[in-house]
Amino acid sequence: MRSFYVSYKPHLYDNSSCNKFGNVFIMRTLLCSRITSQNRRFAFRQLRRNALPFTRWRAQRRVTTWSPLATAFNSPHPRQDRYLRPTGLFGVQELTNANGFTELKNKTLTEGVKIVDQVLKSPPTPRLVGMFDMLSDTLCATADLAEFVRLTHPGFRFRCAAEDTSRGISSYVEELNTNPGLYNVLGKLLSTAEEHEMDEETKRVGELFLFDFEQSGIHLDEEKRRYFVELQEAILVIGAQFSQTASMPVQVPLSDLPMANELARIYPVSDGHVMIESAFLDSNNEKLRELAYISCLKPVDSQLNTLDLLLTARHQLAQLVDYPTFSHRALKGTMAKTPENVMDFLKLAANMLHKPAKKEMDILTGLKKSRTNVTNAEQILPWDLHYYTGLAKFQSAKLNSSSISAYFPLGACMEGLDFLFKSLFGITLEAQDSAEGELWSPDVQKLGVVHEAEGLLGYIYCDFFGREEKLLQDSHFTIRGGRLLDDGSYQLPVVVVVCNFPSPSVSSPPLLSHNMVENLFHEMGHAMHSMLARTQYQHVTGTRCSTDFAEVPSVLMEFFAWDPRVLTTFARHYKTGQSLPDEMAVRLCQGRSMFGAMEMQRQVLYAMIDQIYHGMHPLSRSTTDILAQVQEQYTVIPHAPGTAWQQRFSHLNGYGAKYYSYLWSRAVASRIWHQCFAEDPFSRKMGDRYRRTMLAYGGGRDPNCLVEDMLEKKLTTSDLVQSLWEDLKASNPFYQ
Ligand SMILES: [Zn+2]
Repeated sequence: MRSFYVSYKPHLYDNSSCNKFGNVFIMRTLLCSRITSQNRRFAFRQLRRNALPFTRWRAQRRVTTWSPLATAFNSPHPRQDRYLRPTGLFGVQELTNANGFTELKNKTLTEGVKIVDQVLKSPPTPRLVGMFDMLSDTLCATADLAEFVRLTHPGFRFRCAAEDTSRGISSYVEELNTNPGLYNVLGKLLSTAEEHEMDEETKRVGELFLFDFEQSGIHLDEEKRRYFVELQEAILVIGAQFSQTASMPVQVPLSDLPMANELARIYPVSDGHVMIESAFLDSNNEKLRELAYISCLKPVDSQLNTLDLLLTARHQLAQLVDYPTFSHRALKGTMAKTPENVMDFLKLAANMLHKPAKKEMDILTGLKKSRTNVTNAEQILPWDLHYYTGLAKFQSAKLNSSSISAYFPLGACMEGLDFLFKSLFGITLEAQDSAEGELWSPDVQKLGVVHEAEGLLGYIYCDFFGREEKLLQDSHFTIRGGRLLDDGSYQLPVVVVVCNFPSPSVSSPPLLSHNMVENLFHEMGHAMHSMLARTQYQHVTGTRCSTDFAEVPSVLMEFFAWDPRVLTTFARHYKTGQSLPDEMAVRLCQGRSMFGAMEMQRQVLYAMIDQIYHGMHPLSRSTTDILAQVQEQYTVIPHAPGTAWQQRFSHLNGYGAKYYSYLWSRAVASRIWHQCFAEDPFSRKMGDRYRRTMLAYGGGRDPNCLVEDMLEKKLTTSDLVQSLWEDLKASNPFYQ
């Protein structure tokens, strides 16, 4: 939705695509990895030397029965409180049935009109910012809820009604975006900011609202503004078309394929066509891997033209509002600030990665030689990567996925999070009864987040199990933002965490792979950002901050999910109750960034082409030539002629010039982890500090200041790259 109120900045339904952006290339196996037992022993010694011993945490966490929290997630049939009056979705009275959406929409619009009237009659005092926030809150509360329902509700009628509501609010917001009265009154307040006593957050939120107005071209003359609106609409349509085609399977007529029968055994076939869903085939037949890769990524003129159109339209839009490039416009207000800073960071990272990636490449080439019995086996080619990294990990691990999953019943994982959050922040997760009608699916579990001194902080609805018609990406949705109310009380935040875990079976509770545990921790990192923020305004509640900062708390949580001391506090066998053995936990965690340098190189490549495509126009060469040149220059995997990978990179639309955020957030999170939590991942002192200096502010302060306060140091570009390197070293057996 484009607008300022229901904005297109990260009111994220933080897709946790975030945590594995562009993962078509990424092989994330849940198998642990180690190269030699010597390395393993060394790493184990390091862990023991550097950090708190396992035994200390064990002693605190000996559990023999499941807690009520674990039981709620192991057997997901939440109790409904029969004494509560039946209610609608999320307790919204209108939403007892799908028709209620119309009533809710009308009520919201009426309320919106009333607040706009009040704003227009008000003098330009700081109170105005609060009124804008109230308007934003009124519209977001309905629009965000509707957007969530549209994407996840199992009922068709609910989804349609939600879509209609979303659209209705969106067009009202467009009207507001072009309301000069609103723009002028806010502009007047901010231009006389020195005359008023405005705290930092109020000033920032006022500026953000004004910036959002200007992003909508309100300050342009009539003709330009009309063109601006047309361009924006065109970008929405072209972008959606690009994303949709990018993620569709490639259909190749069986008659055109030399190894049609082999491919037809692997990919689905429909109407005489093979539907190639992924370019990366896990087959020991190199010719077949190559065929799948080339067929999947063969340039498609119409899709490449769509990409060109999208990039050109974005460039024109940016120029219309006086930015040299779309990237300059997109990076305003982020941690990175400018495209130049992003490119400096990416180039420095590429230099740092050159040697380690070559080393990893040599290991894979050696493996390829040994498997193919060809002494002069060529280098690893793009279609080899997935297969040989998977093989190397499999060979080095003595753990298989089902034996690991048995230690991660969902209930135990939730207990683990509860213990971790209690240790770090003094909060507990409490399974709550829900009223009849409050939930959209019977396996959703509502949690109250309760602080030991402050009481209830907010609610997390956990929609954890896969079902038809549900969004496939693990995600975090803000349903209601936190904000300070006029009577001094606090509007508690409400969020939903969506995952796609397996449902419980007759014989076992839901069992997670370690990859799923990592995703759970990641999404709960976003949820904690939402719960622990205490902003005055909902416009900057929790995760409503710049994209390159929003991923820091969630990526930081991944570090906890990869720490043996954390895992052994909760991982226990669902049948025997036996804790995950220390040695197994260490081996599992050692695999975190095996081939991590090559993976980071790919992330650098994606982020670079995203920057260049959204940089100066007209582009100096075709998007394919740019990809080929950057790939040859910065990665160890060569570009395959006759392919155009960028046509399937849908994040070019969704993240538009912000794809670098993944690496950037990882670098910041890595620094915070190593400096503040690696020694003691349960440190209350550091947890409190983290909350006080970072999470509490949501998007209400410049994120660079937040990180600086946490680390007591201003991070430079080279610090960021150094952090990436230290992280690679610390978690990769090749460099120890
Ligand atoms: Zn995320």
